[in-house]
Amino acid sequence: MANLIKPGDHSTQAADVQARLRALGIPVEDNAGWFGDSTTQAVRTFQQQRGILVDGIVGPSTWGELVGASRRLGDAILYLKQPPMRGDDVVLLQERLNALGFDAGRSDGIFGRATDSAVRAFQKEYGVAEDGMFGPRSHSALMGLRVDRQGTAAGLREELRRAERGGRGLGGAVVVIDPGHGGPDRGNPGTNGACEADLCWQLALQVAERLAAAGATARLTRTETEDPDNSERARRANQIGGEMFLSLHLNTYGEPTAEGSSTYYFSTSQAAQRLAEGIQGELVGLGLNNCRSHGRSYAVLKETRMPAVLIEPVFITNPDEAKRLHDREFLKALALAIVTGLERYYSDLT
Ligand SMILES: [Zn+2]
Repeated sequence: MANLIKPGDHSTQAADVQARLRALGIPVEDNAGWFGDSTTQAVRTFQQQRGILVDGIVGPSTWGELVGASRRLGDAILYLKQPPMRGDDVVLLQERLNALGFDAGRSDGIFGRATDSAVRAFQKEYGVAEDGMFGPRSHSALMGLRVDRQGTAAGLREELRRAERGGRGLGGAVVVIDPGHGGPDRGNPGTNGACEADLCWQLALQVAERLAAAGATARLTRTETEDPDNSERARRANQIGGEMFLSLHLNTYGEPTAEGSSTYYFSTSQAAQRLAEGIQGELVGLGLNNCRSHGRSYAVLKETRMPAVLIEPVFITNPDEAKRLHDREFLKALALAIVTGLERYYSDLT
């Protein structure tokens, strides 16, 4: 889909969007093909449900979610290909395989290598031709099975890694830092000429320095002049094989009074949630307002293969907070809080 489908449109594409929203149980009152207020509201509801950016416009990522949300397990043959297959049917497949003890990776709806291995292992164990194609025969074999095991393999694996490291702190860990925006993409502008891309870069360098002091290795997803898209950032992190992933951004709001810290994690990763909450606690400990940790489906959180957290330590649109970001000591304090959050993730083994 090349174009945006947006309010004011009157097109067959808008009608397609309306049909898909209705099929998902979201009411649309506008006439067929007319992208009016009701369609906009329905799109926003859908975006909210899926944890993606809520703007009431159907761009490529919302369209991808809509198509994926409409598919039921068994509708299509699922297998490993490039680019990977995505959708709610893949989520169901992963959940079911994980519940049976086949490690399909995180239930992120992306049919990647882990899901392929899990399908093959499942086929082998249940006497279906081991071809990695999840079609009708595998489907009926899978649906005929009771699912009663506790915990998922992906969650257990993340838990095991944490336990292995317990007591050693961050020593030897490889942590991927993702400074938001960059290059031609300057990010959101703040007050007093503050620039999100530059400030995220400065903060990333401080976090890297802090990590080195803790015996860890920091790797960045981009250079200062690059602006890779979010899937590319995730791909680079996976290639580096980091143990943790930290994406750094600054929050924005239409009112200058909004202030404080928020952290985000991919909703089905308990490890990432724990990490996000740990970092959140440390940031709030600096006296920053607590805007809490939230589950989100951002590409950098969803497509990375390690516990991943997106951090917005302050609002760039708040004049006081934007001003503090230019103070090196404040950046250092933020970096220390973030790295302390990481250390606590590995030391609190309860
Ligand atoms: Zn940003």
